[in-house]
Amino acid sequence: MEQNLTGKKILYIDMDGVVANFEKGIKQYLPDWDSLSEDDRGKKTDEICGSVDNFFLDLHPIEGAIDAVNKLSNKYETYFLSAAMWNVPQSFTEKRLWIEKHFGNSFRKRLILTHRKDLNIGHYLIDDRTSHYAGDFKGKHIHFGQEEFPDWSSVEKFLLG
Ligand SMILES: [Mg+2]
Repeated sequence: MEQNLTGKKILYIDMDGVVANFEKGIKQYLPDWDSLSEDDRGKKTDEICGSVDNFFLDLHPIEGAIDAVNKLSNKYETYFLSAAMWNVPQSFTEKRLWIEKHFGNSFRKRLILTHRKDLNIGHYLIDDRTSHYAGDFKGKHIHFGQEEFPDWSSVEKFLLG
């Protein structure tokens, strides 16, 4: 794949489960999260995220994420690529504000919210899931939280090493 005009390779980074600790956040309201079915998780997540003020904005960063993303953005043209919750419109706004809260102005205009991650062209996508077509991304899918890339230090080693 050709590089873009800045000469840097393009890197996309998912938010929930990669930089923002969604699981820790939702477990504050649903301690039995681990034992719920996929269906129940979906329904209850809609309820909670739709009723708790600033649910997404208040999510804690995942360990090592902020530092790693700052380093990676020097080497790669970096964008956040996240699927906000369609039934929770405030999640779109809060994701934008979360980035400003943790990165100041350095990711200004570098947030892409979509349910079709495969339509974005680039070299790498760091994502903890294959859903929203992340598994069909045409570049390399760095599957965060899985065996090869369990945490940010393994991702840093691979992308900056
Ligand atoms: Mg995710």
